[in-house]
Amino acid sequence: MPELDELLGQVDDCYDDLLNLHRELIRIPSVNTGVMPTGNETEAADYAAQWLAQDGISTEIVESAPGRGNLIAGLPGASGENRLLLMSHLDVVPVEDESKWDYAPFGAEVDDGRVYGRGASDCKGLLACQMMAMRLLRRAGVELSDNLVLASGADEESGGRYGFGWLAERHPDKIKAPLAVNEGGGSHLDIAGATTYLLGVGEKGRLQVELNIKGASAHASTPWLGENANYRVAEILKRIEAYEPERDTSSSIFNYLSTLAIEDAATPENVDVIIEEVRRRNPQLGSILRALSRMTLTPTMISGGIKSNSVPELCRVTCDVRTLPHQDDAYARGQLEEILAGLEGVEVDIDYMAVPNSSSYETDFAERIKRATSRSLGRGDLNWIPSVSTGFTDSRFLRPMGTVTYGFSGSHPDDDSLLDRIHGTNESIGVKSLISGTRIMLALAYDILAVR
Ligand SMILES: [Zn+2]
Repeated sequence: MPELDELLGQVDDCYDDLLNLHRELIRIPSVNTGVMPTGNETEAADYAAQWLAQDGISTEIVESAPGRGNLIAGLPGASGENRLLLMSHLDVVPVEDESKWDYAPFGAEVDDGRVYGRGASDCKGLLACQMMAMRLLRRAGVELSDNLVLASGADEESGGRYGFGWLAERHPDKIKAPLAVNEGGGSHLDIAGATTYLLGVGEKGRLQVELNIKGASAHASTPWLGENANYRVAEILKRIEAYEPERDTSSSIFNYLSTLAIEDAATPENVDVIIEEVRRRNPQLGSILRALSRMTLTPTMISGGIKSNSVPELCRVTCDVRTLPHQDDAYARGQLEEILAGLEGVEVDIDYMAVPNSSSYETDFAERIKRATSRSLGRGDLNWIPSVSTGFTDSRFLRPMGTVTYGFSGSHPDDDSLLDRIHGTNESIGVKSLISGTRIMLALAYDILAVR
């Protein structure tokens, strides 16, 4: 059986295959608008399944609805039990304004060391890396102690109802494993002269809040006969803008500030001062710390009134709320009640879109990810911090199943992850990150599963 270093060397030899695979995946526009029929993930799943089948890797596509395929592939291990799950998703967000793109959004053009296209980074890059790692393990005939499973879900971009949410409910046995690695982490920051990787241990929750504000209609020429709901909206917005969320430093990242050359231990009292200092040196890290130290409440849409000459009777303010892993909907509701205290005619509707959760950072699995990364990059000088992502991923469906789930895509230190522009115009990924991501997935699976 080949040694790991020999296998890692094969990743470089497979560069053309890897790049082709990634580009072909981008060229299949599995766009998810959130409104059925949409997604078309089965086409991407079919392509991936055929690619894996070339090496006799067993694959299965399970559809939650017509066209909404979820890809499951596996390399069997001696025990017959699943151990490590490589996760990603097949769908991509829509292209907002194609005219702003410098590259065809589904053309997968390569320019100056980067591959451009919708899904290049989110999440077809990670999928390609995991598929290539699986192929290399298979070709080398590496004997595994337990099963390695690859699962790429549908519908991640609109909540996972047809993807991992559905799999967790209907087919838990197919994806159940003690360990999983997914998107939602693995980028790096250059802090105080050191390369620091973010290991995604959890994600904030998301709630959508609808505030229905009632007034009384009247003809706009005699407004005093009515009760203008717009003025109530104005008061509510003023209060939301002035809202100071409770500061919270319980996220594990705050235990590792010394890694980032920050001397003071963070407390709810001093965290804003620390963040301000960090922000001046590294705006990206400052923003991460800010998001991880509080709930956010952001009014995003306003609608109201039905006619230009009527006093509006009803207005609606929609808010996006992101909660920390231990803040539940009762917490969010309590905060809203405080903000709205004393205001009449306001009805609050909360839709819980994504439950926050997190895995512990202090695990053997985390150590193995760090080791696989150092080995793959040939770097013994990397720093690590646990991070909670501000958006949500499918990982939240695995953690309640008892799976230690981390976000780690393994970007290359030479690639600037700010250029990834996930969900944005000119989304891209650095080709070095495709190679490093593949090497890391390979090293991780080898470390955990190879029989030596
Ligand atoms: Zn994604």
